[in-house]
Amino acid sequence: MIEKKYDFLIVGAGLFGSVFAHEMTKRNKRCLVIDKRDHLGGNVYCEEKDGINVHKYGAHIFHTNDKKIWDYVNQFATFNNYINSPISLSKGKMYNLPFNMNTFYQLWGTKTPEEAKAKIDEQIAKYGTKSPQNLEEQALSLVGKDIYETFIKEYTEKQWGKKATELPAFIIKRLPVRYTFNNNYFNDVYQGIPIGGYNVIIDGLLKDIDTKTSIDFFENRTELEALAEKVVYTGKIDEFFNYKFGQLEYRSLRFENETLDIDNYQGNAVVNYNDAEYEFTRIIEHKHFEFGKQSKTIITREYPENWDTGKEAYYPINNDENQEIFKKYKEESLKLKHVIFGGRLAEYRYYDMHQIIASALKKVDEISKVEGLD
Ligand code: FAD
Ligand code: UDP
Repeated sequence: MIEKKYDFLIVGAGLFGSVFAHEMTKRNKRCLVIDKRDHLGGNVYCEEKDGINVHKYGAHIFHTNDKKIWDYVNQFATFNNYINSPISLSKGKMYNLPFNMNTFYQLWGTKTPEEAKAKIDEQIAKYGTKSPQNLEEQALSLVGKDIYETFIKEYTEKQWGKKATELPAFIIKRLPVRYTFNNNYFNDVYQGIPIGGYNVIIDGLLKDIDTKTSIDFFENRTELEALAEKVVYTGKIDEFFNYKFGQLEYRSLRFENETLDIDNYQGNAVVNYNDAEYEFTRIIEHKHFEFGKQSKTIITREYPENWDTGKEAYYPINNDENQEIFKKYKEESLKLKHVIFGGRLAEYRYYDMHQIIASALKKVDEISKVEGLD
């Protein structure tokens, strides 16, 4: 039998594919990484313009509690001390997020944790329910009416294109409530932005590894599969199986970028626009992620959109119907011994970056154990 040129053909140069390729190359495996986009990095890719790293596929803030993952990414880049502290514009007023003592003061004038807690408890008692059946009921039971109506209802309905009463409760589990004056959006121990942008990490991961961009796996499948012993697939799982069990649904986004001839547009990297009258959900001012001093600035308005196959798939719609379909694809994928499925599109899960890295490292460990590579 003729030996194939590569051990692994890795479809997708996002974080999953790049970490996998890096680790397997360290274990003397030959890897080829391909991507259908014209660049490497997947959704963490940054496009440099006027000296500013523009987060092309949405704002990315690295955060983790896992020291192992933090040390891992710090091999490839130095992180700055950026702390995500979004501002909310609602009904003409600015508020701090996440919901904390600053927000409560701005909303009600409460000055102590006791006062704020009493206010929230009173609202929960009045508007909450014992077993919330949808997002609206969940929010009212967690934070009461004022917070729900000021910050959650209209933003969430824009983001998901559905009434809050038709959305599952779990979506807003990600919004923390704090009785301290702390505007840090995340609770994690480690947080920051790689100095020079995320491409620095991707370049480090893929250094000396064969890569090809602007190449779609499905358009060149036979030749590509002939090159490698195994395939690591990080694209959409339903597409891999030619949608035979139906299409998995996503929510998409449209990013509108604007370069402005001023040095500071909004004074913060992220401002959420909570009211329905704005069609976008937030404006990102990229330079503030890296404390940029450029004379110009670049802002991005983020518009949620319905998804179809021509658009980027951003957020999986994890309802029961889609989970049923995914289960069938998952079972099918387990039958294919020469294909490894990983990453947010193949696993149909919303993963943060640190989780994707952890998942790629775990996969490498599992394979290394079976093949005795370590
Ligand atoms: P991707 O980065 O999507 O990579 C998959 C790659 O496969 C893509 O480049 C795609 O082009 C390629 N591909 C697919 N099909 C084919 C094919 N047929 N042939 C060739 N190539 C193919 N995480 C955080 O930790 N912090 C944040 O602040 C954060 N913000 C986010 C904001 C938004 C708007 C979104 C959508 C996500 C955010 N994330 C954030 C999550 C983060 O983007 C992901 O965890 C991570 O990028 C997933 O990496 P991946 O390799 O699984 O997927
Ligand atoms: N959300 C909200 N108001 C806000 C910000 C977020 O109601 O000002 C809700 C909304 O439903 C959103 C979810 O919280 O889908 C998660 O938002 P987050 O900004 O944490 O996540 P991202 O959209 O960046 O993935």
